[in-house]
Amino acid sequence: MIEHADADRLRDLTLELVEVESPTGDTAEVARLYARRLEEVGLGVEVLDEVFPATPIVIGRLSGSEPGPTVVLNGHLDTVPIPHAPPRVEGDLVYGRGTADMKGALACAAEAARAVKSLDSFPGELVVLATGLHESPGGRGEDLAWLLQEHGFKADAVIVCELGSDRFIAAHTGCATFEIVVSRPGEATHELKTEAGTPHPIVAAGKVIDAVSARSAALGAAEHPLVGSDTYFFGEVDGGDFYNRFPTTCRLVGTRRWAPGSVLADADREFRELLARVAAETGCTIDLDLRLVREAYEIDPEHPLSLALRRGYADVTGVELPISGGKLVADAAFFNGECGIPAVYHGPAGSGAHGDVESVPISELVRATKVYLRVLEHLWA
Ligand SMILES: [Zn+2]
Repeated sequence: MIEHADADRLRDLTLELVEVESPTGDTAEVARLYARRLEEVGLGVEVLDEVFPATPIVIGRLSGSEPGPTVVLNGHLDTVPIPHAPPRVEGDLVYGRGTADMKGALACAAEAARAVKSLDSFPGELVVLATGLHESPGGRGEDLAWLLQEHGFKADAVIVCELGSDRFIAAHTGCATFEIVVSRPGEATHELKTEAGTPHPIVAAGKVIDAVSARSAALGAAEHPLVGSDTYFFGEVDGGDFYNRFPTTCRLVGTRRWAPGSVLADADREFRELLARVAAETGCTIDLDLRLVREAYEIDPEHPLSLALRRGYADVTGVELPISGGKLVADAAFFNGECGIPAVYHGPAGSGAHGDVESVPISELVRATKVYLRVLEHLWA
C-alpha cells in the first residue's frame, strides 16, 4: 500500500492548505477546503460547526468491509498567528505558515486515506479528524475536548500526526498557565500617606516568588525518567504604577508543568496551599487563575499501537525509533487520558514551527504517509 504515497499530490495539498490563512480560532475556510478534498478522496465527511462555528471540526470516515478497529489520523488546522512570507515550493521544501505545524501532516492523512480507499477491502474504519483550537493561548483544545467528552466521539487508536518524526514519544509533561493577582484593599495612596502596616502587594508577590521557587527546587529532586521534574516558571511580573505610590496589586504570570502520574487537580491543590500561606503571612489577598493547557501523557512503548508505530517506522526507514519523552504540550493527552483511547505521536519532520520561516520537506511528507500506511497494516494484521 505504501507505494501509493505520491509526492506531487502531497506537495500540492500542503501548498493549497497553507495558502488559506488559519490562525487559531479562525479556521472555517481551511476546514471547508480540507473537507472538500477528503470528500474527493472518497471519505464520508462531517463538518461539525454548531458549537464552534469559527473553527468547525472536520471528520472524514472510510469504512472497511470487515470488522476491525477504528483508527484515527488526527491533526490541527490552526496555525500560530505569526505573519509569514507567502507560501512557495523550492526544491524539496514547501514553505509557508503551517507547512510544518501541521497542514503538511494533514495532507499526509488525506493521502493515506486515498491509499486505503484504493484497497478492495480492509478491516474496521479509518477516520481523519481535524480541529482548529490547538495553539495556545488562542486555543486549548476546547473543540477536541468537547468532541471527546460531550459529543461522544469513539475510536480504538489514534495517531496524532505531529511530533515524534525521529523518536517515539512515550511520555510528556502536562502544562497549565497561571495568573496570580496579589492585592490589598483600598485605593493607591502616597507612600507617606499610607497607614503603617498596610499589606504591600509587591512585597507579598516577592514572597510568592520565594515560596514558589523553593517548592520548584524541591520538585527538582524527583526526576521522571523521560520528562524530567515538575516545574514552576515565572514569565511576567507587574505591579505598581508610580515610584512613590503605594500599590494595590501585583500580577505574576507563568507556567506550571508536571510529569505523568499527576494531574491538573494535584498541581492546583499544591499551588493554592502555597499561596494561602503567603496570604496569611502578608495580609494580602492572593487569587490564582490556573488554566489547563494539556494534561500529561504516557504510553507503554510495548502497547500494540506503540509497537505498530515502531514497526511501521522501521519498515519504512530501516532504523528504529529511539524511545524518548519531553516537556511538550500536544493532543494525544486528550485521547489517552480520561477517554482511554490509546494515542501516539508521529509526523513529518518540518522546521520553523512558530518561527519566522516555516517549511516541510516533501520527502518527509512521503515518508510520514508511508509510516501511517504501514502502521495501519500492522494494526489490521
Ligand atoms: Zn502543531
